[in-house]
Amino acid sequence: MSFMRLDHILQRGKRCLSYEFFPPKSDRAWYTLEDTITQLAGLGPDFVSVTYGAGGSTRAKTREVIEHIQRNSPLTAMAHLTCVGATVAEIRGLLDEYHHAGIENILALRGDPPRDQGAFTVTPGGCAHSNELLQVVAADGRFASVGAAYPEGHPDSPSREEDWGHLLEKFDNGACAAITQCIFDSKDYCELLQWVEHRRKGSTIIPGILTVVDYPAIERFSSFCGATIPQALKELMEPLQERPSAARAAGIAYTIHLCRELLDLGAPGIHIYALNRSTAAAEITTALRDSGHLPQPYTETELRRGPLS
Ligand SMILES: Cc1cc2nc3c(=O)[nH]c(=O)nc-3n(C[C@H](O)[C@H](O)[C@H](O)COP(=O)(O)OP(=O)(O)OC[C@H]3O[C@@H](n4cnc5c(N)ncnc54)[C@H](O)[C@@H]3O)c2cc1C
Repeated sequence: MSFMRLDHILQRGKRCLSYEFFPPKSDRAWYTLEDTITQLAGLGPDFVSVTYGAGGSTRAKTREVIEHIQRNSPLTAMAHLTCVGATVAEIRGLLDEYHHAGIENILALRGDPPRDQGAFTVTPGGCAHSNELLQVVAADGRFASVGAAYPEGHPDSPSREEDWGHLLEKFDNGACAAITQCIFDSKDYCELLQWVEHRRKGSTIIPGILTVVDYPAIERFSSFCGATIPQALKELMEPLQERPSAARAAGIAYTIHLCRELLDLGAPGIHIYALNRSTAAAEITTALRDSGHLPQPYTETELRRGPLS
């Protein structure tokens, strides 16, 4: 048994733990993901999320993965949903499908088009921003919704403060929480948290953590999404490029330290971009629980007591 709505999970007031997966691209990758879901389910995360691609086939896969999780695991799932290439009527249709699949949590995003298609363009009859999508989800009324946050500001935004202003609108449009773009430096998160807290007390902003295991992949990903790799991390990882196991150990230690700093700063939990692998995510989870930075998973009795007790 598990809580199903993220707003109810957050009302418990305990720090939360979540993992993010993406739809696999091959049969082999499916088996890896199934195995990962089984392994990580054993750690009792509060929820897991599945990303949503820009193309039609990856969208169908998002639903397939979500339904697989709902049917075959005790996990609470959150489906990512974007505005790319969809009218509001089509989005409402998708929400119906998610509802029928038992999904109660939506991460509402503007989304990015496929990499070879340039900048985001609004679909006629669609949503221009995640805030419009959040309004569609709120009007539907059947889901808890979450938005995205950018501690360094969204790359399209003239300033980070302007972007953070739109983050405040996400909460006004019904988001019960926001999950951040990957963070490598706790300072960025701290600045965002203080700015938001000053204007809207008690907003839930969960830091997104990319485990530093494959450093060249981290560099590629961060340049694509606009997250800065701090000098300290570069200096730690670059000399270790020819020594994969030393690089892995150093990267995991860095990630654990970063998570502890974020939780000490008041982060309400940690969202780990698990990249469909279980080992690093499990190591980080165990370390954070051992040091008391994350609570142990809910017991069956606590779960039975419901959201507000
Ligand atoms: C946790 C997380 C998960 C993600 N998962 C996915 C995924 O599954 N699939 C995917 O394709 N992408 C995903 N992304 C990437 C995301 O789609 C891109 O970063 C995208 O460019 C912006 O999405 P958004 O929801 O933040 O957009 P928005 O909130 O719409 O922001 C985009 C830009 O518009 C501005 N803006 C927002 N509201 C308004 C407004 N009302 N008026 C004017 N300007 C406004 C913002 O400041 C920003 O500059 C994810 C990102 C995060 C952080």
